[in-house]
Amino acid sequence: MSTTETNGTMTGRERYLNALQGKPVDRICVGSPTSLATYEEMRRLGIEWPDAHYEAAPIALLAERSYTEHGYDSIMPYFSIILGAAALDADIEWGEDPWEFDKGTGKIISGPRMPAVSPPNPWTTPDEIVIPNDFLERRETKAVIDSIKMLRERHPDAAVIGKVMGPWTLSYHMFGPQEFLINVILDPDYVHACLDRLMPASIEFANAQIEAGADAICLADHSTGDLVRAETYRDFLMPVHQKITPEINSPVILHCCGKTLDRMQYIKDAGFEAFHFATENDPHEAKAVVGDFKLVGNVSNFVTLLSGRPEDVAFEVEDIVSAGIDIIAPECAVPPQVTNANLMAVPAAARGEFQGDPSVTDPRNMAHEYRVDVAKQSAAASSGPALSL
Ligand SMILES: [Zn+2]
Repeated sequence: MSTTETNGTMTGRERYLNALQGKPVDRICVGSPTSLATYEEMRRLGIEWPDAHYEAAPIALLAERSYTEHGYDSIMPYFSIILGAAALDADIEWGEDPWEFDKGTGKIISGPRMPAVSPPNPWTTPDEIVIPNDFLERRETKAVIDSIKMLRERHPDAAVIGKVMGPWTLSYHMFGPQEFLINVILDPDYVHACLDRLMPASIEFANAQIEAGADAICLADHSTGDLVRAETYRDFLMPVHQKITPEINSPVILHCCGKTLDRMQYIKDAGFEAFHFATENDPHEAKAVVGDFKLVGNVSNFVTLLSGRPEDVAFEVEDIVSAGIDIIAPECAVPPQVTNANLMAVPAAARGEFQGDPSVTDPRNMAHEYRVDVAKQSAAASSGPALSL
């Protein structure tokens, strides 16, 4: 029996779906639409990347730990961002780095990296876009679909979340981010054509995961404030998202990293059930912008989960809960170095059950401190308008 099933009157699956759809929940929902895979669990299970990117059995074993061991309501079995691109024939650098341990403590320092698309860019013009007939049978897509089948069977009471990249992120992978983004200014028709022609890949892969048993889909599409303006989201991607969301046969959660406060209103209008947002955005401000639209997030990965103590994680989670965020989760795929102690502090604190070390009397909201620092720095640096796409 999982830690999730021993408390509460709803299953994790019921709780997650209710939270997404604004229906009552017995207690706050905790569950990530992005990866919670860690080195600690890989070592414990004797599995590792890259196998656990393209082989269904190790993917399922690694993914289910969030539900069976760490106290989350959900399982999400897609740990990178490049599987769609791999199935579209992009060359992948799989990141097969060796394990490295601290000689004194034996602690894991590093291990296999997240994979990335290798140069050169697979395509240069939208005319080259071809979604292969066997797109869902490719090693990488099939592994995710098959892992969802296994997870559905093993965990009927867990929320199983599928994931696909949206056409904006697929365009970064297939055309190169710079080459793609410069055409927002130079050749808008190029950008529209890329999005229109890649859209079916996202929809097909999403619906195959739902058919395999996924309860909801995370659509990751990174039109982040660090790279593009809110108006660019509104004019280029929002209309595409409005076409995609009704074609996917389950609730859809948009994931986008970085600053997004200025486009959350547009995201709300794009047909998603919820938005999974990042630490750069204050959770109280985010909720004020979107009102009753559902938000998932936004525990800091690099600031708190990676470098903080469990007490700091818990302190930040309490602030996110107090902001009224609907589903509590790390902001994005967690860095694999994150410890179980920190990962488990998220659900424990969200439910008011966190028991920290009594000697820690100074827990910090490190995400809040980070946002204050960034705001100060950007105020000091802003001397004129920069090129903005
Ligand atoms: Zn992200």
